[in-house]
Amino acid sequence: MTDSVDLVMLPARGGPSLPQERRLVTEIPGPQSVALFARRNEAVARGVSTMLPVFITAAGGGVLVDVDGNSLIDFGAGIAVVSVGNAAEQVVAEVIDQVAAFTHTCFMITPYEGYVAVCEQLNARTPGDFPKKSALFNSGAEAVENAVKIARAFTGRSAVVVFEHAYHGRTNLTMALTAKNMPYKHSFGPFAPEVYRLPMAYPYRWPTGPENCGPEAAAAAISAMKTQVGVDEIAAVLIEPIQGEGGFIVPGEGFLPALSQFCTENGIVFIADEIQTGFARTGEMFAVSHENVVPDLIATAKGIAGGLPLSAVTGRADIMDAAHVGGLGGTYGGNPVACAAALGAMHTIDELDLVGRARDIEAIMAPRLRELAGRFACVGDVRGRGAMLAVEIVKPGTTDPDAATTSAIAKACHAAGVVVLTAGTYGNVLRFLPPLVIPDHLLREGLDVLEEAFAASTKAS
Ligand SMILES: *Cc1c(COP(=O)(O)O)cnc(C)c1O
Repeated sequence: MTDSVDLVMLPARGGPSLPQERRLVTEIPGPQSVALFARRNEAVARGVSTMLPVFITAAGGGVLVDVDGNSLIDFGAGIAVVSVGNAAEQVVAEVIDQVAAFTHTCFMITPYEGYVAVCEQLNARTPGDFPKKSALFNSGAEAVENAVKIARAFTGRSAVVVFEHAYHGRTNLTMALTAKNMPYKHSFGPFAPEVYRLPMAYPYRWPTGPENCGPEAAAAAISAMKTQVGVDEIAAVLIEPIQGEGGFIVPGEGFLPALSQFCTENGIVFIADEIQTGFARTGEMFAVSHENVVPDLIATAKGIAGGLPLSAVTGRADIMDAAHVGGLGGTYGGNPVACAAALGAMHTIDELDLVGRARDIEAIMAPRLRELAGRFACVGDVRGRGAMLAVEIVKPGTTDPDAATTSAIAKACHAAGVVVLTAGTYGNVLRFLPPLVIPDHLLREGLDVLEEAFAASTKAS
């Protein structure tokens, strides 16, 4: 035994040096995971769910390694969080330095440079050629809530416009902003007032066809804002540039630009919730850039800090400064260790060109998913951008959602060692959001497994 341990010198237990392979040595879940899951059920509240009861001991690159020694291909990245990879080298190094220096002072008491540096990075990286400021928080929901607070303070108005299929979080205000009742809202009301939900530009389900979706949905939304909500009442329009939990819905072309323009013309703060789409995920640093939309405020979290809890609101300096001194904050917001991780993650995004890598992933995955659509009649739609791709599963010959088949396919993937997630208001979307550092051979192998899962769970057309 040594009395002083230099953490940096310990052999890496996770991170990019883990063998990049799918390796199953037990059933999934294995006996150790089963035992831990029994403990979990005794100790952890029922409301906190688990998709795949496999307990992880190490992760990195494109794999998750479990307590039984299985190595699973990761197509989920902890819900688009570890885009730079789990235990990414630069994130680990920055965190170790910071955690050994100090762990917390509270930025509202005595500040530190890391917080300022993260804000500078956000101000520089987000779209918009105007002076910007940022504020840091802990979770995505908290960022969304604060964006709404800031928009209300700036406009002196109270209404917030959101959309069908939207997901913005689980706190009281963000439950109100979220569309789906079960499991997010059921039995948890009453909800915050002054939230107005408008139809979403959902191309696959647009009555007059996907090509008409963007302009028609924008016209409908603008008409509803004028006639039902009242333009002068609206503080903010809040939207995910690609809806995440709602089913990876890419709004019909033109929808986002039209909403953004309407907001600009009417003194409404346009807030992009880029919590799932941000930081290289979609093949742009931020997904609004696919349609050259420049939001007034952007909420970020998930991919921001390589797995540490951090979130932010960034936007026009005059709007950001509308909240009075002391009106924004929180004990842990912009924690120094999380800020160090964010700086490491941003460095990694640049160094490994993960924006370009997200496009490469799309180039590998999207054609394979479209092949599936040709072979299996249950595939209603293939969509997404970059490394944020999905297939929507329906009853063959209809557009009726088929959640049971979706779940069967996901379970077959899990049993074969590939972590895929589901999503969607109707629970009928398989979504793929691998770490951007996943090697090509694992992407291909995961897609092979997916194809076998389709074959086993459905009838080929
Ligand atoms: C995950 C998510 C949130 C909520 O983030 P939390 O960190 O879970 O609070 C909000 N909006 C979007 C688009 C998300 O994907």
